Amino acid sequence: MTLPRKHLFHLPEDVIYLDGNSLGPLARSVPDRLDTTLRAEWGAHLITAWNTDGWMAAPTRVADRIGRLIGAEPGSIVLGDTLTIKVHQALSAALSLRPDRRVILSDTGNFPTDLYMAEGLIAQLGRGHELRTVAPEDLAQAIDDNTAALLVTEVDYRTGRRHDMSDLIDRAKAHGAITIWDMAHSAGAFEVDFAGSGAEFAVGCTYKYLNSGPGGPAFIAVRPDILPTIQPALSGWMGHGAPFAFELSYRAGAGIERMRVGTPPILAIAALDAALDAWEGLSMADVRAASIALSQRFITQVEARCPDLTLASPRDPEERGSQVAFRFENGYAAMQALIARGVIGDFRAPDIMRFGITPLYLDESDIVKAAAIMEDVMANRLWDDPAYHARQRVT
Ligand SMILES: *Cc1c(COP(=O)(O)O)cnc(C)c1O
Repeated sequence: MTLPRKHLFHLPEDVIYLDGNSLGPLARSVPDRLDTTLRAEWGAHLITAWNTDGWMAAPTRVADRIGRLIGAEPGSIVLGDTLTIKVHQALSAALSLRPDRRVILSDTGNFPTDLYMAEGLIAQLGRGHELRTVAPEDLAQAIDDNTAALLVTEVDYRTGRRHDMSDLIDRAKAHGAITIWDMAHSAGAFEVDFAGSGAEFAVGCTYKYLNSGPGGPAFIAVRPDILPTIQPALSGWMGHGAPFAFELSYRAGAGIERMRVGTPPILAIAALDAALDAWEGLSMADVRAASIALSQRFITQVEARCPDLTLASPRDPEERGSQVAFRFENGYAAMQALIARGVIGDFRAPDIMRFGITPLYLDESDIVKAAAIMEDVMANRLWDDPAYHARQRVT
């Protein structure tokens, strides 16, 4: 199945882009929108654009468009900052909702920044909290009555292994723990039902599957019934009940507005808003079906052509996100050789070659061509070139 959306994206000739799980490509609608925001809004309206062009409402208005993709109710999601900051906000709120508990539970497959933020918060609070990380397959069993917060990224950034979120959330609920669901590799990748799940918090970034561009804003969604009880740790003026009253003391804004911190990145939100047009009229079920079809094709092709690569992702598509990973001892060099030949994926230490499967702009012919180039690189050891072994700053 191909979704007829490729024409909406600016993709260089001779590039097969298999890294949209890390940085989505430029949507064609984005440059014009940025031009409008720059010239017609900022340029012409200057500071009055905050009102005349709706800049102040942009973090909630555009977030609601993402809400449609992740099943968050309008008014329960807001944009701003980066995912790292949103993890801090959610986690600090979760701990204050469970003041008698001390354990933050996560797994060793989580993305390091989430774990680092937990460590930093624990040190700052100085109240004896503990970050407990277990193997991903042991996470469900590790939830108990001491768990204050379950901090879980649904899809493993390296292998694409997907947690059973409804099972984890049900267990967390049964033990009175708060769930923070990191959707970095879920939003725009497959169907997600945040409101239906009962989870308290969801956080995610927009520059991966949602194509907002480098440094695009993150989102945080909060279960509406708990919003009034949250006292934000990052108590910035944009989350205040009346930012332009300039009161001397903080009081939290109404509803999701309280999860705002400082001045929103208007240019980045404008880029995201334009990029989200590519999702109009699409159902996430169709996106998921296309992703699975392309992923299965990719696995079959690569396994047939490249016997030196070992599948690192779950074989069952239900247990996988929208990416496919292979292990290879010289994976870094092999990925550099592929990039030099127009097949762009990325590498995650120690030996993972990672390929994002993004059906909005990939079709079956891309998948087959990419596999053929991989066969050439592997069969002819084209990766075995000193130029491909030197590690760059970003892998
Ligand atoms: C990509 C990713 C991040 C990145 O955080 P930033 O603040 O945007 O740099 C964080 N957590 C997870 C799980 C990710 O996949």
